[in-house]
Amino acid sequence: MRGSVKIGRVAGVPIKLHWSFSLLVLLVVLANPHGTWATIWPMVVWIVVLFASVTIHELAHCMVARRRGLTVNDIVLLPIGGVSEINGLPAAPAIERDIAIAGPAASFALAILLGVAALMAGDRIWPPALLAGPLLVDLAWMNLVLCGFNLLPALPMDGGRVLRAVLAGRGDPLRATRIASGVAVVLGAAMVVVGFRYDIWLVFIGAFVVVGANSERRVARVQASFNGLRVGDVMAHDPTTVLSSVTAQQLLPWLQAYPGRAVPIVENGRYLGLAAVEDLIAHPVATVGEACDKTAPVLDASQPIFPAALEAFSQFPRNQLAAMSGGYVVGVIYRWTVQAVARQSRGPVAATQPGG
Ligand SMILES: [Zn+2]
Repeated sequence: MRGSVKIGRVAGVPIKLHWSFSLLVLLVVLANPHGTWATIWPMVVWIVVLFASVTIHELAHCMVARRRGLTVNDIVLLPIGGVSEINGLPAAPAIERDIAIAGPAASFALAILLGVAALMAGDRIWPPALLAGPLLVDLAWMNLVLCGFNLLPALPMDGGRVLRAVLAGRGDPLRATRIASGVAVVLGAAMVVVGFRYDIWLVFIGAFVVVGANSERRVARVQASFNGLRVGDVMAHDPTTVLSSVTAQQLLPWLQAYPGRAVPIVENGRYLGLAAVEDLIAHPVATVGEACDKTAPVLDASQPIFPAALEAFSQFPRNQLAAMSGGYVVGVIYRWTVQAVARQSRGPVAATQPGG
């Protein structure tokens, strides 16, 4: 997400803070014009532990997403909560359901754990306290609220994802998104109305839900228009590959004869990287195995054009990418093929999945 700064990394996931967080700080200061450090620091502690809880919730989403084969970019913390930026769309409704349910499940477990800890510390956990009780009690209740609130069936919040997954499991995924986002728009609008009366944060969250639900609907429509087309359906079969032991000097004239071309480099039959003229010029005395770009994204022939291939080309400047199957290069996919497919499908659109 643009405008966010990295503040750390947990379990390999970068944690980022969105710029709008400075508004939250400003709000705390404005709300306490005569505040001293002594009155403000409990609020700072409160914000830190609140967002630590949100981070744990998001990490749970990320861990399950990773286990199910999706790539996790980062977690962005916004004043209204966290967003897990997960690349690609889940291949099956059950995967989306599992990823969505993991966050509230983690918040619930944390609430129970903190509640037990509070009891052991001799705190009273009933009646509920959110801001007035001892820190452990506050935290326990807050995590329970986090769990419950996220389970509201308002896409792109977790409950909305579960709703869509359940509906999609019964048939048409596009229709499932249409219904789930319809429910979300109604709930989001209600949050905005109720929020104006009671709590301004609810207004922001409601607006986030309405905007998010519409974007989910757009993504689903484009995805449906791609008709499930996969990399293997549009790649060029039987591609030219080059052995890693060939020198950059040897390959350079050949690549220069085909402007814009990049070739997959193989070693012992296995894919190693992608070599373009720029890579060879940068390492003129190396072998192509050393000179090739090993960070180039690779696509599996079974991956969908939308969003996998579109994302890969939007993040990588070359015009070709290797298509793999079982670690072997089985084809090359061209940027213009993907663009042509996208044009026919009224795409392309950005396809980062907001995780909520
Ligand atoms: Zn969540």
